[in-house]
Amino acid sequence: MVVEKDGLECNCGRKGCFEKYASMKAFKNNLRKALGYDENFSGKELLALIKNIKKEDENYKIINKIKQEYIEYLAIGLANLINIFEPEVIGIGGSFVYFEDVLLDDLKKEIISKNMLFNKRKELNIQTAVLGNEAGIIGAVL
Ligand SMILES: [Zn+2]
Repeated sequence: MVVEKDGLECNCGRKGCFEKYASMKAFKNNLRKALGYDENFSGKELLALIKNIKKEDENYKIINKIKQEYIEYLAIGLANLINIFEPEVIGIGGSFVYFEDVLLDDLKKEIISKNMLFNKRKELNIQTAVLGNEAGIIGAVL
């Protein structure tokens, strides 16, 4: 699903794909790049940084800008899907689950405040996967 016309090149051969902007991989890589860290700076470390950042810290604005961009793209993509399929609930898995505290409320606010949903009567129900990032592994074992 394209969310950005003439956007970043994707492995699928198209440009501006949802995945290039709204995946956790993209979010974490954008944070690392903007903050000057390499790929050895883990997702866990990034999460700790986001949770502990204070308004007066020099990286506060950078982190919030990257976070806001990520939220905007994720909101656009999810709103597209919600408007087409009208699901009762959206379940987000993967490493987003670990970042739920710093992302989920902002994501819901973005979709609601920007009036992205066609059907205004529907409640917006977005939840994170209870098995977290291990769902695929657990499913494979079962
Ligand atoms: Zn693609």
